Amino acid sequence: MKEDTHRALGQIVAQLKAHLRYQKGLGINTLLSQRKTSAPLTLEATRSAIGACTRCRLHEGRQNLVFGEGNPHAMLVFVGEAPGREEDLQGRPFVGQAGALLTRIIEAIDLTREEVYIANIVKCRPPQNRNPQPDEIRTCLPFLRKQLEAIRPTIICALGTFAAQTLLETEERISLLRGKFYAYQGAQLMPTYHPAFLLRNPQFKRDVWADMKMIREEYKKG
Ligand code: SF4
Repeated sequence: MKEDTHRALGQIVAQLKAHLRYQKGLGINTLLSQRKTSAPLTLEATRSAIGACTRCRLHEGRQNLVFGEGNPHAMLVFVGEAPGREEDLQGRPFVGQAGALLTRIIEAIDLTREEVYIANIVKCRPPQNRNPQPDEIRTCLPFLRKQLEAIRPTIICALGTFAAQTLLETEERISLLRGKFYAYQGAQLMPTYHPAFLLRNPQFKRDVWADMKMIREEYKKG
């Protein structure tokens, strides 16, 4: 009986060793690290994982890393492209003129900035506000994904061509993407025009208002 138990234990240990060797081959070093990668991080843990990030060249010209702000349990998350000059200086998203317009848009659907969450595709300002490069997005986007996993919003509003195309992995124009919801990480994603674009092209405010009304209806469903 004792021998049988010993033999069974030996087999379990051998199987466990083989499993660990297999995981090591995949680049998974310990059972603990496997558990860490599958559990969603909190916003605080994500911020602390980013640290004083130098993972891509955008860190070179930044004054402040712009992580994002708002309600950690927001039902609605706005995602823009990248911090601009004011955001870089203050370390907060959407605080310039475009930010003031975004605040008015949020209030127009009977919400406040404190009730929603606001973030960007990349967290450091690109030089001269150029578009972020593909390798910069590849490096930074996982952090936004972690934020969305932590918040678990029911609605995401992608602001502008760049955010919409990046999140939906498409090259379709924003004028064709906007006005409808898309499934994204368990949420409903609505692309719409960027507030900075609206400042230059106020004739598109009507379209944004139509998109916001759809968001408001979806929001009311809870
Ligand atoms: S843009 Fe993102 S990946 Fe690049 S340095 Fe800033 S935080 Fe790091």
